[in-house]
Amino acid sequence: MVGVNLERAIELLTAHVNPIAETEDVTLLEAVGRVAATDYVATFDNPPFDRSPLDGYALKSSETPGAFKVIGEECAGDFFTGEVKSGETLRIMTGAAMPKGSDCVIRQEDVELDGENIFVRQRLRHHENYCFAGEDIKAGALLIAKDTTLTAAHVAILASQGVAEVKVYRRARIAIASTGDELIQPGTELSAGKIYNSNLYLLAARLIEMNFTPKILYNLPDDADTCAERIYSLQDELDLLITTGGVSVGKKDIMHDVVKKVGERIFWRVLMKPGAPVIGWTCGRFLGVALSGNPFAAYATFELLTRPVLAKLTRRADILYSRGHGTLADDFPKKSPGRRFIRAQVKGDKIFLPSRHESGALYSAVGCNALVDIAAGTDKLSAGAEVETILL
Ligand code: AMP
Ligand code: MG
Repeated sequence: MVGVNLERAIELLTAHVNPIAETEDVTLLEAVGRVAATDYVATFDNPPFDRSPLDGYALKSSETPGAFKVIGEECAGDFFTGEVKSGETLRIMTGAAMPKGSDCVIRQEDVELDGENIFVRQRLRHHENYCFAGEDIKAGALLIAKDTTLTAAHVAILASQGVAEVKVYRRARIAIASTGDELIQPGTELSAGKIYNSNLYLLAARLIEMNFTPKILYNLPDDADTCAERIYSLQDELDLLITTGGVSVGKKDIMHDVVKKVGERIFWRVLMKPGAPVIGWTCGRFLGVALSGNPFAAYATFELLTRPVLAKLTRRADILYSRGHGTLADDFPKKSPGRRFIRAQVKGDKIFLPSRHESGALYSAVGCNALVDIAAGTDKLSAGAEVETILL
């Protein structure tokens, strides 16, 4: 069979991808899952002042044990401008600034209170129960490096530094379309010979799970001219177009003609099962990945081929999949003359296989979190076999 191997196909596709360079400023909450377009450096210490880590009394440790006169109190958010002198203490709440003259805090529960005085029985160390300015974040520290995918923790760190607007790369412009005259939109009535369109939802939902915002083109008819026209009209609006269906050798496999009409083919066919007849192509500035319409084929090739493309396009290393290995808990009763990927569920170092593996079978993909990568020329596999996996 002519075609390129998976690794070469990924190389060819990613060679046609330029990481997004345009940036925009978004609010903190819009920044979750986006990619920082600049380094973020701490502009001040956090906490900004020495503070108490508990509710208690601030005093001089060198005077403990002993009796102290309570000269006032300070809650978080207050600022006591006086000074704690010899024999004195300030009642202090968690988060309030350490008053001048004090160097430790005794827990409220550990003192004996007698009117305006407290008695401390224990000896406290210098800086006991004492939280220093900058102990969390030092001014000048690199908080977030450019190209980091921002998580909730990053957003919180930016908030703690008073940052309200975050510079991120613009969103990837990804469109999804299915092709096939047999496909019916969910929500409308099914008729003889037709099936509901599931690929469109599978791939769009997967992109949404990865925090992308795909443009849904819905179903395109099995007519090369109509498809070509629709796709060509988007050439300046997209970074990536993912289509399913129409890539094999059947009468209605129109994607070959579409590519001829409005684009340039990079390759056709990847040496793997399922989903071999993938077309990699370009149209103007966008990259096209045309996947087979068989649901599991579309799913597997989407994961294997487009995730590296998405990772490079958006600089998101978190989109890349990782490789692993483990022991099959079930038999796989077919020979693999060519390289094959089968769906699986990895639990610890055990790999469970579903009962059905046809590329048209979608149900058995539920709960799967990995693909087993079976090398060309592998015989049937029995439970106990060591296999390579791709963790999705
Ligand atoms: P194709 O790649 O267009 O030859 O389609 C291969 C098989 O996948 C056929 O059985 C199609 O009916 C089915 N198929 C194609 N596209 C979809 C889709 N979007 N949703 C569900 N099944 C599909
Ligand atoms: Mg078709």
